[in-house]
Amino acid sequence: MNKMIKPVLQQPIAHVLDLGRLSNHTWSQKGRAGNSSIDTASLMKTLNSYYVATNPNAKTRCIDGRHDPEFDETKLGAQIPGGAPGAALAYRLGIDEEDLTRGTFYSDAEMMIDSYLRLGLSPGGHRDDSSEGEAMGCGAIDKMDAILVNMTDPSLVEDHTRLVKALLDGAFDRDDYLRVLGAGLVLCSRSHDYLAGRGETLNLLEQKAPHSVAVLNGPHQEALVVVNLVPGTTLTSNRFADDHHGVQAFGYDLWCSKQLAEMLFPLPSQMVDRHRFVMAQVIITIATLMTLTDGSQRLFVRAPTV
Ligand SMILES: [Zn+2]
Repeated sequence: MNKMIKPVLQQPIAHVLDLGRLSNHTWSQKGRAGNSSIDTASLMKTLNSYYVATNPNAKTRCIDGRHDPEFDETKLGAQIPGGAPGAALAYRLGIDEEDLTRGTFYSDAEMMIDSYLRLGLSPGGHRDDSSEGEAMGCGAIDKMDAILVNMTDPSLVEDHTRLVKALLDGAFDRDDYLRVLGAGLVLCSRSHDYLAGRGETLNLLEQKAPHSVAVLNGPHQEALVVVNLVPGTTLTSNRFADDHHGVQAFGYDLWCSKQLAEMLFPLPSQMVDRHRFVMAQVIITIATLMTLTDGSQRLFVRAPTV
């Protein structure tokens, strides 16, 4: 009997959308500039080739595009702002039932790291090779006070709303959005107290999960932002920069925020919390970009092809 040989169809699993510049305004005078020499048309064709499968046992990564000397393409974790400790801020702004006028980022980060470990996830974070003193070398955490300010800055709110809406698309909920912004404003009023001791966060992470803190090398050269919606995939940041003369990309795996929300809040009664957590992570990601960049970077979305 002849075996039927079925042709294997090479269907693309993802397509790339170009959403243009982050903004026409200048967000931060000190922020990193984009790179106008980036060829958008060729990027649209090649970007997919820089995405690889995540390794479920690999530590969470930050959205930072810099070089990681211990990078292994077969052992990459997903990217969210500030890594696992960064997710603590989303919990505080989106979920926390307690009084926003109490608590610290350090204790929130400890709770988030413990949750990761309890759920069998691998928390991760990073420093860089030039950080000293209180600064850890992770902009998402070192500049968290400015991120909270920018989240509700009246001059930035139009850009902020537009971008959060674009990333969440049909899942954007106006009430949740305003609720998280309101929580950000309250927390901003006491950010000095809330953020006291944050410099110890990565020591805590390393202590609870050995080898979970990467040390990224060299200067920032992020010229674009890619928001990835394809579950189980992530940007191979080192290879991208190597192939583009050192030009780096911020990578945000939005699918990971959704997956994390499903694991942290699995019960049917926690549906609202799941949505608010994802909303808070997207809000924080945009406010982080508003703090770290001048707004001239180009924004791409990598979406599943159905
Ligand atoms: Zn970082």
